[in-house]
Amino acid sequence: GADVPRLDPATSIDRSGAPGSLAELEAREITAWFGDHKVLDRVSLTMPAGGITALIGPSGCGKSTFLRILNRMHELVPSAQLAGEVLLDGEDIYDPGKRLIDARRAIGMVFQKPNPFPAMSIRENVLAGLKLTGTRMPRGDKDDLVESCLVKGGLWNEVKDRLDAPGGGLSGGQQQRLCIARSLAIRPRVLLMDEPCSALDPTSTRVIEETMLELAREVTIVIVTHNMQQAARVSDQCAFFLASQGQPGVIVEHGNTEAMFQSPQDSRTYDYVNGRF
Ligand code: ADP
Ligand code: MG
Repeated sequence: GADVPRLDPATSIDRSGAPGSLAELEAREITAWFGDHKVLDRVSLTMPAGGITALIGPSGCGKSTFLRILNRMHELVPSAQLAGEVLLDGEDIYDPGKRLIDARRAIGMVFQKPNPFPAMSIRENVLAGLKLTGTRMPRGDKDDLVESCLVKGGLWNEVKDRLDAPGGGLSGGQQQRLCIARSLAIRPRVLLMDEPCSALDPTSTRVIEETMLELAREVTIVIVTHNMQQAARVSDQCAFFLASQGQPGVIVEHGNTEAMFQSPQDSRTYDYVNGRF
Protein backbone atom coordinates (compact mmCIF):
# COMPACT_ATOMS: atom_id res chain seq x y z
CA GLY A 1 0.00 0.00 0.00
CA ALA A 2 1.04 3.55 -0.69
CA ASP A 3 1.00 4.98 2.84
CA VAL A 4 2.01 1.84 4.72
CA PRO A 5 5.78 1.43 4.91
CA ARG A 6 6.96 -1.97 3.67
CA LEU A 7 10.01 -3.58 5.14
CA ASP A 8 12.31 -5.39 2.79
CA PRO A 9 11.72 -8.96 4.05
CA ALA A 10 15.30 -9.89 3.20
CA THR A 11 16.57 -7.63 5.97
CA SER A 12 14.63 -9.42 8.69
CA ILE A 13 14.51 -13.06 7.62
CA ASP A 14 15.17 -15.53 10.40
CA ARG A 15 15.27 -18.89 8.67
CA SER A 16 16.39 -20.93 11.66
CA GLY A 17 13.42 -23.27 11.37
CA ALA A 18 12.47 -22.40 14.96
CA PRO A 19 8.88 -21.47 15.82
CA GLY A 20 8.28 -17.96 14.61
CA SER A 21 11.08 -17.95 12.04
CA LEU A 22 10.19 -17.25 8.43
CA ALA A 23 9.41 -20.10 6.09
CA GLU A 24 8.55 -20.59 2.46
CA LEU A 25 5.47 -22.63 1.68
CA GLU A 26 5.26 -24.46 -1.62
CA ALA A 27 2.25 -26.36 -2.98
CA ARG A 28 3.17 -28.89 -5.65
CA GLU A 29 0.68 -30.40 -8.05
CA ILE A 30 -2.23 -30.24 -5.65
CA THR A 31 -5.29 -32.16 -6.85
CA ALA A 32 -8.28 -32.35 -4.50
CA TRP A 33 -11.58 -34.18 -4.50
CA PHE A 34 -14.74 -34.30 -2.42
CA GLY A 35 -15.94 -37.81 -3.22
CA ASP A 36 -15.98 -38.03 -7.03
CA HIS A 37 -15.98 -34.25 -7.44
CA LYS A 38 -12.54 -33.02 -8.42
CA VAL A 39 -12.28 -29.42 -7.21
CA LEU A 40 -8.60 -28.61 -7.82
CA ASP A 41 -6.39 -29.90 -10.61
CA ARG A 42 -2.59 -29.92 -10.28
CA VAL A 43 -2.29 -26.53 -8.62
CA SER A 44 1.26 -25.45 -7.87
CA LEU A 45 2.24 -22.24 -6.11
CA THR A 46 5.24 -20.99 -4.16
CA MET A 47 4.45 -18.62 -1.30
CA PRO A 48 7.70 -16.84 -0.46
CA ALA A 49 9.00 -16.41 3.09
CA GLY A 50 7.98 -13.08 4.52
CA GLY A 51 5.70 -12.27 1.62
CA ILE A 52 1.96 -11.80 1.35
CA THR A 53 0.30 -13.95 -1.30
CA ALA A 54 -3.31 -13.17 -2.25
CA LEU A 55 -5.55 -15.86 -3.69
CA ILE A 56 -8.26 -14.31 -5.83
CA GLY A 57 -11.00 -15.67 -8.08
CA PRO A 58 -14.76 -16.23 -8.23
CA SER A 59 -16.69 -18.21 -5.59
CA GLY A 60 -16.49 -21.98 -5.85
CA CYS A 61 -13.14 -22.16 -7.66
CA GLY A 62 -11.40 -23.89 -4.76
CA LYS A 63 -9.57 -21.10 -2.91
CA SER A 64 -10.75 -22.16 0.56
CA THR A 65 -10.10 -25.80 -0.25
CA PHE A 66 -6.57 -24.92 -1.35
CA LEU A 67 -6.00 -22.90 1.83
CA ARG A 68 -7.27 -25.74 4.01
CA ILE A 69 -4.94 -28.15 2.24
CA LEU A 70 -2.04 -25.91 3.23
CA ASN A 71 -2.49 -26.75 6.91
CA ARG A 72 -4.09 -30.19 6.67
CA MET A 73 -7.61 -29.09 7.48
CA HIS A 74 -8.91 -30.60 4.21
CA GLU A 75 -8.56 -34.07 5.69
CA LEU A 76 -11.16 -33.21 8.36
CA VAL A 77 -13.86 -33.72 5.68
CA PRO A 78 -14.53 -37.48 5.47
CA SER A 79 -15.06 -37.51 1.68
CA ALA A 80 -11.98 -35.40 0.99
CA GLN A 81 -9.05 -36.76 -0.96
CA LEU A 82 -5.79 -35.21 -1.99
CA ALA A 83 -2.78 -35.72 -4.22
CA GLY A 84 0.35 -33.58 -4.27
CA GLU A 85 2.74 -32.11 -1.74
CA VAL A 86 2.89 -29.12 0.57
CA LEU A 87 6.45 -28.19 1.44
CA LEU A 88 7.20 -26.03 4.48
CA ASP A 89 10.79 -24.94 3.96
CA GLY A 90 11.28 -27.97 1.76
CA GLU A 91 9.65 -30.56 4.02
CA ASP A 92 6.35 -32.16 3.03
CA ILE A 93 3.79 -31.63 5.80
CA TYR A 94 1.96 -34.71 4.44
CA ASP A 95 5.00 -36.96 4.82
CA PRO A 96 3.86 -40.00 6.85
CA GLY A 97 6.65 -39.27 9.33
CA LYS A 98 5.24 -35.79 10.06
CA ARG A 99 2.79 -35.14 12.85
CA LEU A 100 -0.48 -33.36 12.17
CA ILE A 101 -0.08 -31.21 15.29
CA ASP A 102 3.25 -29.86 14.04
CA ALA A 103 1.72 -28.77 10.73
CA ARG A 104 -1.20 -27.06 12.46
CA ARG A 105 1.11 -25.37 14.95
CA ALA A 106 3.44 -24.07 12.25
CA ILE A 107 0.65 -23.00 9.90
CA GLY A 108 -2.13 -21.00 11.56
CA MET A 109 -5.53 -20.11 10.14
CA VAL A 110 -7.85 -17.12 10.54
CA PHE A 111 -11.38 -17.47 9.20
CA GLN A 112 -13.91 -15.15 7.58
CA LYS A 113 -16.12 -15.01 10.63
CA PRO A 114 -14.22 -13.97 13.77
CA ASN A 115 -14.42 -16.91 16.16
CA PRO A 116 -12.95 -16.01 19.54
CA PHE A 117 -14.15 -18.09 22.50
CA PRO A 118 -16.89 -15.60 23.49
CA ALA A 119 -17.10 -16.41 27.21
CA MET A 120 -13.35 -16.60 27.72
CA SER A 121 -11.46 -13.45 28.67
CA ILE A 122 -9.36 -11.61 26.10
CA ARG A 123 -6.27 -12.86 27.90
CA GLU A 124 -7.48 -16.47 27.95
CA ASN A 125 -8.33 -16.27 24.26
CA VAL A 126 -4.77 -15.31 23.39
CA LEU A 127 -3.41 -18.13 25.52
CA ALA A 128 -5.91 -20.76 24.32
CA GLY A 129 -3.53 -22.24 21.73
CA LEU A 130 -0.93 -22.96 24.39
CA LYS A 131 -3.38 -25.18 26.24
CA LEU A 132 -4.20 -27.05 23.03
CA THR A 133 -0.55 -27.66 22.29
CA GLY A 134 0.28 -28.49 25.92
CA THR A 135 2.81 -25.65 26.25
CA ARG A 136 3.52 -24.60 29.86
CA MET A 137 5.12 -21.31 30.88
CA PRO A 138 5.42 -19.11 34.00
CA ARG A 139 2.77 -16.45 34.65
CA GLY A 140 5.13 -13.56 33.85
CA ASP A 141 6.03 -15.06 30.48
CA LYS A 142 2.34 -15.50 29.73
CA ASP A 143 1.72 -11.83 30.48
CA ASP A 144 4.53 -10.87 28.11
CA LEU A 145 3.18 -13.17 25.43
CA VAL A 146 -0.36 -11.79 25.76
CA GLU A 147 0.97 -8.26 25.39
CA SER A 148 3.25 -8.98 22.45
CA CYS A 149 0.56 -10.91 20.55
CA LEU A 150 -2.04 -8.21 21.14
CA VAL A 151 0.47 -5.56 20.03
CA LYS A 152 1.20 -7.53 16.85
CA GLY A 153 -2.52 -8.05 16.34
CA GLY A 154 -3.02 -4.28 16.55
CA LEU A 155 -5.38 -4.60 19.51
CA TRP A 156 -3.26 -3.90 22.59
CA ASN A 157 -4.05 -0.21 23.05
CA GLU A 158 -7.77 -0.87 22.88
CA VAL A 159 -7.86 -3.73 25.39
CA LYS A 160 -4.86 -3.38 27.73
CA ASP A 161 -7.10 -2.11 30.55
CA ARG A 162 -9.63 -4.90 30.25
CA LEU A 163 -7.80 -8.12 29.55
CA ASP A 164 -10.20 -10.01 31.81
CA ALA A 165 -13.29 -8.91 29.86
CA PRO A 166 -14.93 -11.56 27.69
CA GLY A 167 -13.74 -11.86 24.08
CA GLY A 168 -17.34 -11.91 22.93
CA GLY A 169 -17.82 -8.33 24.12
CA LEU A 170 -15.50 -6.87 21.50
CA SER A 171 -16.60 -5.41 18.17
CA GLY A 172 -16.34 -7.60 15.06
CA GLY A 173 -13.11 -6.00 13.93
CA GLN A 174 -11.61 -6.28 17.41
CA GLN A 175 -12.68 -9.94 17.62
CA GLN A 176 -10.90 -10.65 14.34
CA ARG A 177 -7.73 -8.99 15.66
CA LEU A 178 -8.08 -11.07 18.82
CA CYS A 179 -8.22 -14.17 16.61
CA ILE A 180 -5.05 -13.01 14.86
CA ALA A 181 -3.37 -12.48 18.25
CA ARG A 182 -4.54 -15.94 19.35
CA SER A 183 -3.06 -17.60 16.29
CA LEU A 184 0.24 -15.75 16.82
CA ALA A 185 0.62 -17.04 20.39
CA ILE A 186 1.83 -20.44 19.22
CA ARG A 187 4.39 -18.72 16.99
CA PRO A 188 3.31 -19.95 13.59
CA ARG A 189 5.61 -19.67 10.60
CA VAL A 190 2.74 -19.19 8.17
CA LEU A 191 -0.63 -17.50 8.66
CA LEU A 192 -3.50 -18.45 6.35
CA MET A 193 -6.40 -15.98 6.22
CA ASP A 194 -9.65 -16.89 4.49
CA GLU A 195 -11.48 -13.65 3.63
CA PRO A 196 -10.56 -12.21 7.05
CA CYS A 197 -12.17 -8.83 6.41
CA SER A 198 -15.29 -9.66 4.45
CA ALA A 199 -17.44 -9.59 7.59
CA LEU A 200 -15.90 -6.30 8.79
CA ASP A 201 -16.46 -2.58 8.29
CA PRO A 202 -13.96 -0.53 6.23
CA THR A 203 -12.18 0.93 9.27
CA SER A 204 -11.55 -2.47 10.85
CA THR A 205 -10.52 -3.76 7.45
CA ARG A 206 -7.93 -1.03 7.15
CA VAL A 207 -6.55 -1.73 10.64
CA ILE A 208 -6.25 -5.43 9.82
CA GLU A 209 -4.50 -4.67 6.53
CA GLU A 210 -1.93 -2.59 8.40
CA THR A 211 -1.56 -5.40 10.92
CA MET A 212 -0.91 -7.86 8.08
CA LEU A 213 1.75 -5.66 6.54
CA GLU A 214 3.54 -5.50 9.89
CA LEU A 215 3.14 -9.23 10.51
CA ALA A 216 4.70 -10.17 7.19
CA ARG A 217 8.05 -9.32 8.77
CA GLU A 218 7.85 -12.50 10.79
CA VAL A 219 5.11 -14.66 9.29
CA THR A 220 4.51 -15.76 5.71
CA ILE A 221 0.95 -14.74 4.88
CA VAL A 222 -1.55 -16.25 2.46
CA ILE A 223 -4.86 -14.41 2.18
CA VAL A 224 -8.01 -15.21 0.22
CA THR A 225 -9.83 -12.02 -0.71
CA HIS A 226 -12.65 -10.94 -3.00
CA ASN A 227 -11.60 -7.35 -2.56
CA MET A 228 -9.30 -6.39 -5.43
CA GLN A 229 -8.30 -3.13 -3.74
CA GLN A 230 -7.28 -5.14 -0.71
CA ALA A 231 -5.25 -7.57 -2.81
CA ALA A 232 -3.54 -4.58 -4.44
CA ARG A 233 -2.89 -2.87 -1.10
CA VAL A 234 -1.44 -5.77 0.83
CA SER A 235 -0.09 -8.50 -1.42
CA ASP A 236 3.29 -8.90 -3.10
CA GLN A 237 2.06 -11.79 -5.18
CA CYS A 238 -1.34 -12.79 -6.52
CA ALA A 239 -2.72 -16.08 -7.81
CA PHE A 240 -5.91 -16.05 -9.87
CA PHE A 241 -7.98 -19.21 -9.44
CA LEU A 242 -10.72 -20.16 -11.87
CA ALA A 243 -12.98 -23.15 -12.37
CA SER A 244 -14.54 -23.13 -15.84
CA GLN A 245 -17.99 -24.71 -16.28
CA GLY A 246 -17.92 -28.00 -14.39
CA GLN A 247 -14.13 -28.16 -14.44
CA PRO A 248 -11.88 -28.29 -11.34
CA GLY A 249 -10.17 -25.10 -10.17
CA VAL A 250 -6.78 -24.18 -11.59
CA ILE A 251 -4.47 -21.19 -11.28
CA VAL A 252 -4.90 -19.25 -14.52
CA GLU A 253 -2.18 -16.77 -13.73
CA HIS A 254 0.06 -15.76 -10.86
CA GLY A 255 2.84 -13.32 -10.25
CA ASN A 256 3.76 -9.91 -8.89
CA THR A 257 0.54 -8.19 -7.85
CA GLU A 258 1.23 -4.85 -9.49
CA ALA A 259 2.16 -6.49 -12.79
CA MET A 260 -0.88 -8.73 -12.68
CA PHE A 261 -3.27 -5.86 -12.05
CA GLN A 262 -1.69 -3.54 -14.58
CA SER A 263 -0.86 -5.93 -17.39
CA PRO A 264 -2.49 -9.32 -16.89
CA GLN A 265 -1.34 -11.95 -19.38
CA ASP A 266 -4.66 -13.76 -19.61
CA SER A 267 -7.87 -12.06 -20.77
CA ARG A 268 -9.82 -13.87 -18.03
CA THR A 269 -7.55 -12.31 -15.38
CA TYR A 270 -8.06 -8.92 -17.00
CA ASP A 271 -11.84 -9.36 -16.86
CA TYR A 272 -11.77 -10.53 -13.24
CA VAL A 273 -9.51 -7.84 -11.80
CA ASN A 274 -11.58 -5.23 -13.64
CA GLY A 275 -14.80 -6.50 -12.08
CA ARG A 276 -16.21 -8.02 -15.24
CA PHE A 277 -17.26 -11.30 -13.56
P1 ADP B 1 -13.99 -20.92 -2.90
O1 ADP B 1 -13.38 -20.78 -1.55
O2 ADP B 1 -13.11 -20.50 -4.02
O3 ADP B 1 -15.34 -20.26 -2.98
P2 ADP B 1 -14.31 -23.72 -2.14
O4 ADP B 1 -12.94 -24.24 -1.93
O5 ADP B 1 -15.11 -23.38 -0.94
O6 ADP B 1 -14.25 -22.49 -3.17
O7 ADP B 1 -15.14 -24.78 -2.97
C1 ADP B 1 -14.63 -25.42 -4.14
C2 ADP B 1 -15.58 -26.52 -4.56
O8 ADP B 1 -15.57 -27.55 -3.58
C3 ADP B 1 -17.02 -26.05 -4.70
O9 ADP B 1 -17.60 -26.74 -5.79
C4 ADP B 1 -17.65 -26.50 -3.39
O10 ADP B 1 -19.01 -26.76 -3.57
C5 ADP B 1 -16.86 -27.78 -3.08
N1 ADP B 1 -16.78 -28.04 -1.63
C6 ADP B 1 -16.19 -27.21 -0.72
N2 ADP B 1 -16.26 -27.76 0.52
C7 ADP B 1 -16.89 -28.94 0.38
C8 ADP B 1 -17.26 -30.01 1.29
N3 ADP B 1 -16.98 -29.92 2.60
N4 ADP B 1 -17.89 -31.08 0.79
C9 ADP B 1 -18.17 -31.16 -0.54
N5 ADP B 1 -17.85 -30.22 -1.44
C10 ADP B 1 -17.22 -29.13 -0.99
MG1 MG C 1 -13.96 -19.68 0.12
